[in-house]
Amino acid sequence: MLSVVEAQAIVMQYVRPLTPVMIPLTSAAFGLVLAEDIASDLDMPPYDKALMDGYAVRSTDLPEGRGILTVTEEVTAGQTPRLPIAAGQAARIMTGAPLPAGVDAVVIRERTRMLDGNRVEIDDRPARPEQNVMRRGQEMRRSEIVLKAGTVLRPQEIGLLATVGRTAVSAHPAPNVAVLSTGDELVEAGRMPGPGQIRNGNGPMLLAQVCRAGGIPNDLGIAPDQVDELKAMITEGLRSAILVISGGVSAGKLDLVPGVLQELGVQAHFHKVAMKPGKPILFGTLGGVETRRQGDRETRREATSDDIPCLPVSLSPCLVFGLPGNPVSALVCFELFVRPAIRRLRGETDPGPHFREARLRQDFSHRSDRPTYYPARLDWCDQGWHVQPVPWFGSADLRSLTGANAFVLFPAGDHTHREGQVFPVLVTDE
Ligand code: AMP
Ligand code: MG
Repeated sequence: MLSVVEAQAIVMQYVRPLTPVMIPLTSAAFGLVLAEDIASDLDMPPYDKALMDGYAVRSTDLPEGRGILTVTEEVTAGQTPRLPIAAGQAARIMTGAPLPAGVDAVVIRERTRMLDGNRVEIDDRPARPEQNVMRRGQEMRRSEIVLKAGTVLRPQEIGLLATVGRTAVSAHPAPNVAVLSTGDELVEAGRMPGPGQIRNGNGPMLLAQVCRAGGIPNDLGIAPDQVDELKAMITEGLRSAILVISGGVSAGKLDLVPGVLQELGVQAHFHKVAMKPGKPILFGTLGGVETRRQGDRETRREATSDDIPCLPVSLSPCLVFGLPGNPVSALVCFELFVRPAIRRLRGETDPGPHFREARLRQDFSHRSDRPTYYPARLDWCDQGWHVQPVPWFGSADLRSLTGANAFVLFPAGDHTHREGQVFPVLVTDE
């Protein structure tokens, strides 16, 4: 059976960042990954400027911090000073306003007192050159690269893009991710389950995981364990960049998903991975082929690596993940395989999954034939990461995960792990 690492490598072979598009610099750009380097189109600040409200002075006039100066004019933000400042003079100035020529410091208003129409008394510490002043180009210079391709656009990056005059940027679009829950026993959350039925918890959970990973969720609802309906709903899902199916991939009588995927032309790359929970996971792809219509003749050819740099969206294969129906299995499989694929499609340079080394808080006995992702609490204290498995009843027990923020990875075998021993921990909450 494939190891998790081997299976992850297979998935990543089929994932390329989506072709960048121009995105207007509105909230639509938030969270996307930049696909171009950004250069500033101006010096910032564009002029020497005051950082405080007060008086623009020559520091040599105030070696002791005290003195009386003649006020030449008042400069507010948005104005330009008219007069240079000579020895013994000062200009009243507001935050953000350009400094008059000749000054090299600003004394804050709280340390000053107006004496009469045009004289100010200053009572401050000795004036330092450059105090409360920002020089032209100190933040950035014209033509300087201020953001690199691969940067995730957070609010500060969006503000910076606007500052350097960008109204649109080249960014990787977020992938559409369809989520389909399968099972005859499932009813939607708004209904009271009848005999033998349960509510569909996986659908909303996986859609939330799509959001957390930076994908665009597409809720396909519930499909019954019935070939024709499954086929129709899966066909709908195959139009997305990623289709996540929960349930129906194991070895049960009504586990119809692998057969239906095969009939629809999805090529399975693996089915089963050495992990617990989550062993029955299936990964396949559809497409990665270009379809050309000439008259009513259709020709298809396999995509080659030469196509990748200018890969049109239709050329990317649809990635299909069949996750086991038990909720914790589905959640862990998503974090290990689907989330990194979404991040790569979004253009992120470090798609994860992200692990952290942590010390076990207490002795813990554990036995399994496969490496196990055990729900746990990961906390920073005493200068280090510490991990504590939470009480857990196995892959059907989702509730225990509300007290967890991570999964500690225990090796296969029958072990008593000791307090202080270091384990890799899968971080899911960031
Ligand atoms: P399966 O993978 O279809 O064999 O399902 C395994 C277990 O997960 C069964 O107990 C199912 O009832 C349960 N299950 C499947 N789908 C869901 C779902 N969408 N929400 C909650 N539990 C589910
Ligand atoms: Mg089922």
